Amino acid sequence: MLGTGRMKVLLIEDEAKAAGYLRRGLGECGFGVDVAGDGETGLDWALAESPDLIILDVLLPRRDGWSVLAELRRAGRKTPVLMLTARDAVADRVKGLGLGADDYLVKPFAFAELLARVRNLLRRSETPGPTAAGELVVGDLRLDRIRHKATRAGQLLDLTPKEFALLALLAERAGEVLTRTVIAEAIWDINFECNTNVIDVHVRRLRAKLDDPFPRRLLHTVRGCGYVLGERE
Ligand code: CA
Repeated sequence: MLGTGRMKVLLIEDEAKAAGYLRRGLGECGFGVDVAGDGETGLDWALAESPDLIILDVLLPRRDGWSVLAELRRAGRKTPVLMLTARDAVADRVKGLGLGADDYLVKPFAFAELLARVRNLLRRSETPGPTAAGELVVGDLRLDRIRHKATRAGQLLDLTPKEFALLALLAERAGEVLTRTVIAEAIWDINFECNTNVIDVHVRRLRAKLDDPFPRRLLHTVRGCGYVLGERE
């Protein structure tokens, strides 16, 4: 998983329909979602990619959710884990808590409920400090990637999800010139060869909200190259 400015969720779920539904829903809410279809792959990715949060189904092929969770904690990983269980058995909850699960959701559940739990877990895992986990600061710009909120000089910016994702990408790599190809791959998940016009259009819209109302520009065009976010004279 490359840095895309988004909070990264690893979904370990073997039921393709449910996985697709959750991936789409979380994607629309601005999360970057990877789906692993079995416990073994899920554990490998969880250890290798360090996601911000893991949504873990209990019943999985190759390695069940309990075992994935136990291995993850044994490896010292504190990644928040939301378990999905088909049964609302007290024994399951006790077992999961003993293994270090952070929260539970019993299937079937409403997407809104899952989203609320995800946001809650991400908030809880924030480290205290001047900038909490999930927050990006560039000059007087603050981006809260958990709540998908952007402010400049304390003033809330009204951004679409795509504009927010674009700004978060630029903020995560502030001071670095990002080419249109890099932006296209990160935000649109596709390989652009020629049609980068869509990026210019989004940058224009973002700039109108981010820079036009303020005396100092943050988003700069590097001619023939791409875009960079930062404070410049
Ligand atoms: Ca399952």
